[in-house]
Order: sequence, then C-alpha cells, then structure tokens
Amino acid sequence: MPNFDYDLFVIGAGSGGVRASRIAASHGAKVAVAEEYRVGGTCVIRGCVPKKMLVYASHFAEELHDAANYGWDISKDALDWPRLRDHILNDVNRLNGLYQNTLNNNDVTTFLERATVSGPNEILLASGKKITAKYILIAVGAWPDMPKVDGIEYAVTSNEMFHLENLPKRLFVYGGGYIANEFAGIFNGLGSQVTLANRSERLLRSYDQQIVERLTEISIAKGIDIKLNFEVAKIVKQPDGSFLVHSKHGDEPVETDVVLVATGRRAKTDDLGLQNVGVNMDAKGAILVDDRAQTNIPSIYAVGDVTDRVQLTPVAIREGQALADRLFGDKDARINYDYIPSAVFSQPPIASVGLTEGEARQKFGDVKIFQSDFRSMKNIFADRAERSLYKMIVHPTDDKVLGIHMISPEAPEILQLAAVAVKAGLSKQAFDDTIALHPSMAEELVLLK
Ligand code: NDP
Repeated sequence: MPNFDYDLFVIGAGSGGVRASRIAASHGAKVAVAEEYRVGGTCVIRGCVPKKMLVYASHFAEELHDAANYGWDISKDALDWPRLRDHILNDVNRLNGLYQNTLNNNDVTTFLERATVSGPNEILLASGKKITAKYILIAVGAWPDMPKVDGIEYAVTSNEMFHLENLPKRLFVYGGGYIANEFAGIFNGLGSQVTLANRSERLLRSYDQQIVERLTEISIAKGIDIKLNFEVAKIVKQPDGSFLVHSKHGDEPVETDVVLVATGRRAKTDDLGLQNVGVNMDAKGAILVDDRAQTNIPSIYAVGDVTDRVQLTPVAIREGQALADRLFGDKDARINYDYIPSAVFSQPPIASVGLTEGEARQKFGDVKIFQSDFRSMKNIFADRAERSLYKMIVHPTDDKVLGIHMISPEAPEILQLAAVAVKAGLSKQAFDDTIALHPSMAEELVLLK
C-alpha cells in the first residue's frame, strides 16, 4: 500500500467541498482542503446568502410604501447603499469564519492557496509544495460564462454586484435566468431603473411558462423594462462613464450606469491540470462523473457545480456528504435526483418541484391541471394589484401529483414542504383530504380546483 500524505484532498472549500471534508474527517480520514479565495464558496461568499439579504433589503421599498395602509406613518425611505452593502459583507465575513471553524474543529487542514492536480494521486500547491492523497475531490464550482461581445470588459457579474461603490441609477441586466431575474428584482426594489434583456423570447426556460408569464407581468408593473429577443452586439463606454448597450437586431441602444451579465455559469476547470491527468470533461469543461461522483480516473472524484449536473447548493452538499460516507463511512449512500425543489428569488418569488405543464404533457399527454389564481390578503389590504398563481400538475389516470409550481410571496417557504408530499408520491386526493390552515396563502394548495 503506498503511503499518502492524506486520505482525501479536496480542491475547493465551497458547499460540496466543505461538507465532504467534514464528513470524511468525522469518519476518521486524514483530510486537507485547498481554497484559493475564501472558505464558504459561491453560495456563502457571493451567491445565495448575500443575495437573499439583498432580497430582504429590497422588500422594504414596498413594505414602507404599504405601511401607510397598515396604519404606520414612516417618513424616511431613503436607502443608504454603503450601509447595507457593508452590513452584508460583514455578515459574509462572519459566515466565512464559521466555515473555517468547522474545518478546524474537524481537524481538516486548510491550504489557503490555489491547488492543481499533477497526478492521479498528486496535488501541486501554488507555493510549489507537492502533496499526495489516496483520493482527490474536485469541488471548485462554476464561474460566470461571459458572451464574447465587444466591450464585455465593461460588464460586471453577480460577483461584483455585492461590492458596488454606489447604487446604480440605471442597471442593465443581460440574461433571463435565475441571476438576471433575482438581481433585476433586487435593484428595482432598491431604487435603480432596471432593464432586463434576454437573447431569446423566453425567460427562465426551465420553469412553468404560465408562472414565468405572471412574473413578467408583475415585473413590468413594478417598473422593470423587459426586452426579449435582445441580443447584445456591443457595449460602448461613453465619456461621462456611462455605457450604451447595442443590440444585434437594431433595437434602440440602452444607456446605463452598470451592465450586469448573467448568461449562465460554467465549470471552473481551466488550468486545473485535469487534462494532463486525463480526466474526462464535456465540451464546456464540466467534469464527467458516474452516479458515485467518480471520474474516469478512479482516484479522482467531483461534486457540485463543476460537474454541471444540477447547479444548486443543496445538491452539492448532498453529493459531498454521500461521497464521504461512501469512501470512509462504509455506506453505499446515493443521491436521488428526482423532484429537486428549486426557487427563483424574484419579486414575487417562484418555487417549483416536479414536472412543468409542458414537460408533463409531453410525457403523459392529457394531464390534469389544477390552479388557484388569487390576491393574497396582505396585498389586498395594501391595495396592491399583484396576484399569486399556484399550479398543480396531476397524472391523467392515477391522481398522482407530478409537479407544483407557484409564484407568490413566501412561495419557497411553502413549496419546501409541499415538495415532501410530491416526492413521497402523494395524490391530489391526499392534498384535498388535508384541512386548510386558515387564513394563510399555503391553504390554497389544499383547495385547488
Ligand atoms: P441561467 O442558466 O439560469 O440562465 C442563463 C440565461 O442566459 C438564459 O436566459 C439564457 O438565455 C441566457 N444565455 C445563455 N447563454 C447566453 C449567451 N451566450 N449570450 C446571451 N445570453 C445567453 O444562468 P444564471 O447565470 O442566471 O445562473 C447560473 C446558475 O446558477 C443557474 O442555472 C442556477 O443553477 C444557479 N443559480 C441558482 C439560484 C437559485 O437557486 N435561486 C440563484 C442563482 C443562480 P436563453 O434561455 O434564452 O437561451
């Protein structure tokens, strides 16, 4: 048996990497992790967590406005962006510290430097040190994929949005997916004049399109300028520091102060040494793995966004946990990728589990659709026109719920629990048999017609 420095060496201390390190160490493995930026990864440092704080912050715009109908007199509604930004960044520092503590408390050695793979069992650190490991886990995540257009160097990504010096007066968001819709909602709420442009005519392609249409209507009503079939041709910097964004198809150029590009993320495998070792990747650089997270090189594994299966934090965490349990915990833990719930923290948010109406019709033909299109009590009292929409997709013959799709305040909070029922294979009748909890928005799920 060769003698390795570590049982497991993890490259990337994000959601998947930290979970795998901690669990492997708790099973008695000798573990090290290398991180070139900050422990915590995309979700904690520049993704889900600070994004959600911005979502909360931006909701105050409407809450303060609605306060009058609720009997409150609130005179000051000016946003102090630097105060908000710095408070969020301080909280990110706190979380970064907690993640580092977790590694330390589990006796995981941390190398705060870049690491590359130099052999099936060998890692090269930026400092020049070589380390050997029985297993190597690649958990380096993904990185914004920038389209190749003139002037793209003037654009920022979601990474930089958390550090802006000032709140932009005008923001141009390029893309129509998760990040584009979330940041458009946030900055519209905070007071920027937002344009969201997507290259095709469909936003949030993987979501139920009736729900997406509702989001589009509400976003427009809230003041977001949505441009579909707008493919950016070039970004031109003007003498006053602002930008002109030109489209390929002759639309009027859009003048803006910040251009945010959110056109997808790709696996961060460039210059990681994987080609030299012969690890198989797809055309976009995502690592190909089997259902045990193993690459074609038996000692090298990969979890999370770098594998481009499902780019969601909880999936990476589960993959990291299962891998550590398999390698060191003597368990044949596997991930079930069916019925993964997801949400877009747009305003209002979208939440979804299972098949969309389109997918279900393709698979089963004449599926049954039940829905509730309602105005929440909170919105009625605030005199806000915004309507929620809940949709349930049901199997044509056996009454099994195939999918639930929602757009409403608190939709992600409600859907997480509904996802348990859908994953458990419950029927529409099981929902109907459950007595409503009144008054709530969630009760609509057991009253669907
Ligand atoms: P998405 O994959 O969600 O959306 C990409 C968007 O960019 C689409 O509208 C697509 O247009 C467009 N696009 C793709 N390529 C190009 C191109 N070359 N030129 C112009 N437009 C292009 O990507 P995001 O960047 O928003 O998010 C990345 C991933 O991060 C998500 O897939 C998700 O997994 C994860 N994420 C999850 C969140 C959550 O769970 N709430 C929040 C944020 C991110 P079209 O569809 O028209 O082709």
